[in-house]
Amino acid sequence: MTILARLIFMSKETISSPLSTWAQNIAPSPTLAVDAKAKAMRAAGKDVCGFGAGEPDFDTPKFICDACAKALAEGKTRYVPTPGILPLRKAIAADYTSRGFKGIDETCVVVSPGGKMSCYLTILSLVSPGDEVLIPAPYWVSYPEMVKLAGGSVKVLPTSDADAFKISAEQLKAALSPRTKLLILTSPSNPTGAVYSRAEIEAIVKVAVEAGVYTLSDEIYSSLTYDGAEAVSPATLSDEAARFVATASGFAKSYAMTGWRLGTLVAPKAIASAVSKLQSQMSSNCTTFAQYGALAVYENPELAKKSVAEMRAVFDRRRQMLCDGLNAIAGITCYRSQGAFYLFPNISSFGLHSTEFAEKLLEEELVAVVPGIAFGAEGYVRISYATSDEILKKGLTRIANFCSRLAKKS
Ligand SMILES: *Cc1c(COP(=O)(O)O)cnc(C)c1O
Repeated sequence: MTILARLIFMSKETISSPLSTWAQNIAPSPTLAVDAKAKAMRAAGKDVCGFGAGEPDFDTPKFICDACAKALAEGKTRYVPTPGILPLRKAIAADYTSRGFKGIDETCVVVSPGGKMSCYLTILSLVSPGDEVLIPAPYWVSYPEMVKLAGGSVKVLPTSDADAFKISAEQLKAALSPRTKLLILTSPSNPTGAVYSRAEIEAIVKVAVEAGVYTLSDEIYSSLTYDGAEAVSPATLSDEAARFVATASGFAKSYAMTGWRLGTLVAPKAIASAVSKLQSQMSSNCTTFAQYGALAVYENPELAKKSVAEMRAVFDRRRQMLCDGLNAIAGITCYRSQGAFYLFPNISSFGLHSTEFAEKLLEEELVAVVPGIAFGAEGYVRISYATSDEILKKGLTRIANFCSRLAKKS
């Protein structure tokens, strides 16, 4: 950057700080912060109902842990190819091919340290300074910050529970500009749990492809859909779409492997190669023996299917209980979302800022939720049902008490 550009870019305050503009302009993850606060309160002996977590409350299936332990015992502890061990990439390519992806082989696959890194490296590979990235809101907290780190600018496409938290093709069309480079789609969504139908995805991707705009499709929750909803991969819709879509996913949410740090990217070869090149300079390969654990998913398809189905059934039961329970509370309306493990109830009738609502709820009733504003949507909170039935029931009672006090005050 030239000195002039630096001066224009930096504000007065940032000039006196030793930290870079990148470090100063990036917000810390609010979801991790809520979770950390709830955990700290629990460690201090408080009986907190934690609905802030963005991770399954299950243990990683044993057959996956066993495969990892075996690899470790066999000395699989050295560097491997940056984009991932060949058998894992081949297995991922075969799995995506079986799900309707065309022209995919291991050169289109990168295994990254987490789905988060898959998203970030894809953004870094596609977005130059000045490029515009379209992000439907409510959005996953990390996307805008990742775009900022790439020097791109964010254009938010707002949605509400009245549109089932989904953008329309017309909304996308109206938001396009000559600078638009990328659209980020997340279905099922974190934080809303909304799932786009095939027809909705088709209409959206058609507009994007016709405009030459790339799509980053974050499909980390694709195995968690309910009420017969189907997670449709934009890349499978047409040969054209396949050229413009990068699909990020990972093992964290489907197999309760959040701590393993294993994400995947399936993309046109040029994008996959760029992501691999960036990864070679930033992290090298992800943990070698962890990759052998993930490989067990493809080597034991029946076991893998069974563990996903078991977790899915539990999430579904909790989703229904929580959604019904929230809708029974006067003042709350909750959209019945069909995916992931979150609900995004509307709390706007109480007239409190979502941050204030969440803070008071934590202080007064020891229930941790994430304020909607963290996801770019005021008037809502995110509630994760990746927690036990017992905590869900207790938490619901506390939320009901809290809301009835609020209603009396106003
Ligand atoms: C959890 C999550 C990810 C990635 O998680 P990793 O732990 O990095 O694999 C990506 N996108 C969304 C929307 C998520 O909720």
